Amino acid sequence: MKKNTVLWVEIVFAVVSILVLSFVESDPGSAMAALRVYVLAMIGFTGALVIAVRFYQRQHSSIDISRICEMVEQVDVPAFIWSNDLTTLYTNQAMDELLGIDESEDPGDTSVLLSHFFHSIGISPRDAGDAMVGETLERSCIVDAHGERRYINWTTSLLKQGTQAALFFTIGFETTNLERAKLSLTAYAQSLKKSQNRYQVSMKLSGIGILLCESVHDIYFVSDEAMQFLGIDKNEISFVDFRKKLHPDDRILFDEYLSKVRTVSDQSALPTPRSLELRIRSHAGKPYVWYSYHYHENLLTADGIPIIGGALVDLTEEKQKDATIERLAFLDEVTEIANRNKLMHDGEETYRICKAMDTCGWIMVLDIDRFHIVNDSYGYENGDKILRDFAHILCKYTAAGGFAARVSADNFAIVMHDYTDHGDDELPGRTLEHIRQDMETLSTGEFSSLSLTCSAGFARIPTDGGSFHEVLEHAEFALAMGKGEMSYVMGYDANMHREMVDQGEMEKELANAIEKHHLQLYYQPKVDIHTEKIMGAEALIRWIKPDGTMISPNVFIPIAEKTGMISEISHFVLCEACQQNALWQQMKLTPIVMSINFASGDFYQANVCDVVKEELYKAGLQAKWLELELTERLALGDVNYTVQQMNALRDMGILLAMDDFGTGYSSLSYIQLLPLTLLKLDRSFIIEIETDTVAQEIVSAVIKIANSMQIETIAEGVEYPGQAEILRKMGCDYIQGYLYGKPMTAMEFQKRLEINTYGKELGT
Ligand code: C2E
Ligand code: MG
Ligand code: MG
Repeated sequence: MKKNTVLWVEIVFAVVSILVLSFVESDPGSAMAALRVYVLAMIGFTGALVIAVRFYQRQHSSIDISRICEMVEQVDVPAFIWSNDLTTLYTNQAMDELLGIDESEDPGDTSVLLSHFFHSIGISPRDAGDAMVGETLERSCIVDAHGERRYINWTTSLLKQGTQAALFFTIGFETTNLERAKLSLTAYAQSLKKSQNRYQVSMKLSGIGILLCESVHDIYFVSDEAMQFLGIDKNEISFVDFRKKLHPDDRILFDEYLSKVRTVSDQSALPTPRSLELRIRSHAGKPYVWYSYHYHENLLTADGIPIIGGALVDLTEEKQKDATIERLAFLDEVTEIANRNKLMHDGEETYRICKAMDTCGWIMVLDIDRFHIVNDSYGYENGDKILRDFAHILCKYTAAGGFAARVSADNFAIVMHDYTDHGDDELPGRTLEHIRQDMETLSTGEFSSLSLTCSAGFARIPTDGGSFHEVLEHAEFALAMGKGEMSYVMGYDANMHREMVDQGEMEKELANAIEKHHLQLYYQPKVDIHTEKIMGAEALIRWIKPDGTMISPNVFIPIAEKTGMISEISHFVLCEACQQNALWQQMKLTPIVMSINFASGDFYQANVCDVVKEELYKAGLQAKWLELELTERLALGDVNYTVQQMNALRDMGILLAMDDFGTGYSSLSYIQLLPLTLLKLDRSFIIEIETDTVAQEIVSAVIKIANSMQIETIAEGVEYPGQAEILRKMGCDYIQGYLYGKPMTAMEFQKRLEINTYGKELGT
């Protein structure tokens, strides 16, 4: 029964009631009876209507359902209305799609599909209503008609409960996408966990410790392994604390790395390989362990923050292997300290670090004085023992930073780090004093009669050379210089070095000058003190460069003597001077004695007599016109040999003069042994002779003694007539000096000789 039917009944009922009431008003007596009938009729009718409506409602409730169905159809999520026995069933389009229901399908098939649906969500269709009402069935998974898994949360309401089967309304909210997202998230989390686990396991297996830091901060974030290496229980460590765990020698290396990696703008310019070898200890008192720190250039995170850091790899095993190899290649067998290879290798590293970090260090080379005596007197075994003990002493002074090495035989070196701000210039000298003191302990027991000392030369790293090799060479040079000056310790001096370089350059130039005939003889007159006539000449060599510069023999003769070039020069002088003198004699000029300077090296040549004889012969000059000026240094040599050589020359008729007498080592008693014909009084006496009575007395005494030995005398460097006068009075025989002429060219001298001979120059 429809609702409008009931309405119509009610309207009719109301109209009748109005009619009855108006009749009651017009005829109240008969109306009461009619009213009674009416009331009774109404009661009966209403009761019947209620019963009918209830009955109707019970039988025809589908009218409401259809309205709900209309509404359900509007919903675009799966929804359906159903009864427990699945006889009443309505599914909306979304539900049809989900289950794959065809609209034209038999309702029986639909109920089968729905029954399957309930089974698929784990509920028996018969109990489904009770089970589902008021509950939300979450995440039920359904395979839809296309075979896709769909996740839906189902909510069920009871629509109607009656004598017939109850009706339910079920609506589903799909969560498939959410579930999929959840699933992939879970899968991702699982794989992340897996890879983290794998990462941790591989870290453990590889033993690598990671240190990372945002480059603007000073705190490293460290991996579990790195925590173990560093002996810390937090995942972070400040640079300061990390640095404290480094070996003092490696701290500079680390600082250098840090400043580079933080400041170098072009990170690809960082040195390769990008690794440092660092000694780290986990706790104070524990031994240091070697790690290789493989660092990376400044990396940027996704949000643009620069990250620095690297990986620590334990190098203990490698170091052990290296140590064996190093023992073989880098260790001195006798003393078991570093050998020269190791010195060069580690020294270069020290040099590099000092240069990069603007710090300093020292290299000191040491030499055990008179060590050969130990070997000669005590045998090599004892010699080795002394070397070992000495090495041990040296190591004591490098323990604070640096190392000791044996360079060769009894030559050692120590490299010392200088931790002071500007370098402690006293450090090498102080250290050497300590070493020399410690050496006294070596002169005990069987060596008690030995007095062991050492000498040293030192140079500063890096300022005393362009490489470690050069600094070492300079320290060795300082040692040699110190020995030359009888000093047991000497530091390298750059001026000394410059002189050395200049000397080296000059050696090359001199060799070139000899080859290109840039050497030339000048002649200085020697005059008779009474007649003031030229009786001789001293041939003095000059080096005249192509640009006209004249270099004094005082500069290049010592170099020539040192390098051996002197013999070539002397030979040239001998030949040239003999030829020139012979030529003047051929020109009928007054014959003179030609003096040439002879270096001691020339004199000691075994064939000196033969050479002189040959040159005289070639020039056609008699021996009596040649005089050899020898220096007092001859006195330092073998006296017997000197006397023998001089006698041989003298026997040839050659005159022999002692040059620069009074400045050197010889004494008059020594002079007595030599077959000299002339003593040349050094200029230093003559300069003072007018004023200094001591000089006067010496010169006078020498002249007298020489005269008594039939040796003539000549005074060098006479510049003033007063000097000549005094010398004349003293009985000196000859004079040489600017007073009578400076050294001059052969042509100029020839003119002087012409005047000497003819009273005038020829051709004037
Ligand atoms: P020396 O053999 O004693 O030569 C004398 C030096 O005194 C010369 O210097 C001469 O120029 C300089 N002299 C002479 N009179 C005076 C004077 O009145 N006042 C001053 N101030 N100086 C005077 P020079 O030529 O420069 O030679 C220096 C030295 O070089 C020579 O000293 C000699 O030892 C060496 N020397 C020169 N030529 C040769 C050479 O051919 N062979 C060798 N082995 N040495 C040479
Ligand atoms: Mg001379
Ligand atoms: Mg002289």
